[in-house]
Amino acid sequence: MKLEVVKADITKLAVDAIVNAANSSLMGGGGVDGAIHRAGGPAILEECKQIVARQGGCKTGEAVITTGGNLPAKFVIHTVGPVWNGKPKESELLANCYTHSLQLAVENKCKTVAFPNISTGVYRFPKDEAAVIAVKTVAAFLRNTNEIEKVIFACFDEENFHLIQRELDKVNSW
Ligand code: ADP
Repeated sequence: MKLEVVKADITKLAVDAIVNAANSSLMGGGGVDGAIHRAGGPAILEECKQIVARQGGCKTGEAVITTGGNLPAKFVIHTVGPVWNGKPKESELLANCYTHSLQLAVENKCKTVAFPNISTGVYRFPKDEAAVIAVKTVAAFLRNTNEIEKVIFACFDEENFHLIQRELDKVNSW
């Protein structure tokens, strides 16, 4: 099975790349972003600063890649989810986060990738809608590539775990 859901702290996963729900400054923050920088150490922030110096941050829906520092993961892909205000464009931007992160993973020869539930924390995206977008977008990407062997949805809370599980059941029964 190429798609998996686990209830886990994403910083503990030994995959090629974990995805960070970053903010556009790339300077760290709370939630999963803070956990990744804390566990990965200063090398990640150092590379983020270089990216900011080069391109001035990261836009919503886009993604950039750094080392994994001290993490078990080799790389961190930082993507910026939309802040939820209920506008249709926000769904598209959330889907872009998943697609652009996977494109970067392929470009960097990552075979295994783990995602958190982007935008469902401080950015307040409704968890059910976010789960539909996450699974649909990743499944569509994987149908068009053989480069990625496994995508893990690392859920931190029970609700997201069950919502992603429900969406995966739909995809797997196609
Ligand atoms: P955003 O600003 O994109 O909403 P948050 O970090 O606030 O980002 O939340 C995104 C999701 O990440 C939330 O569902 C939150 O429960 C989850 N999360 C927080 N810490 C971790 C962690 N260590 N590993 C995996 N997921 C986490």
